[in-house]
Amino acid sequence: MDSVSPTTGQQDRAAGIAAELASLGLALPGTLIERHVRCGRANCRCHADPPVLHGPYWQWTRKTGGKTVTRLVPDEQLDDYRQWLDNHRRLRALVAELEALTLAIADADPRARRRPAVPPAAPGKPAHNTVAAPRLTCGHTCD
Ligand SMILES: [Zn+2]
Repeated sequence: MDSVSPTTGQQDRAAGIAAELASLGLALPGTLIERHVRCGRANCRCHADPPVLHGPYWQWTRKTGGKTVTRLVPDEQLDDYRQWLDNHRRLRALVAELEALTLAIADADPRARRRPAVPPAAPGKPAHNTVAAPRLTCGHTCD
């Protein structure tokens, strides 16, 4: 820890984030959607004019791997789901704050200023051509 020296304030904030993460509890991504639906019985009130739809029903949805996953949530579990969703939002916020804090500490590190200066690319030449290509090969044609 000789070179990386977060300020006392940064250390305190990192400890605060860690403590809140540790006590966060269960967490679930996604959203709750309220649904009012029609059933399949043609003579039901939900097909009347005006219709009286069934519900409300609550659906939990989340995107995973480009697919939307949906699940019906019983009324008895609604409070649990709301808490888990709130926890997940807080989790995302804490992770984002931890990332920003870490980046600030990394940038304040004296070693961050020892980066070698990168010469600007020559006009008209792509940047990757600044590496001397022949040095990267053996010079022979390989079979
Ligand atoms: Zn119906």
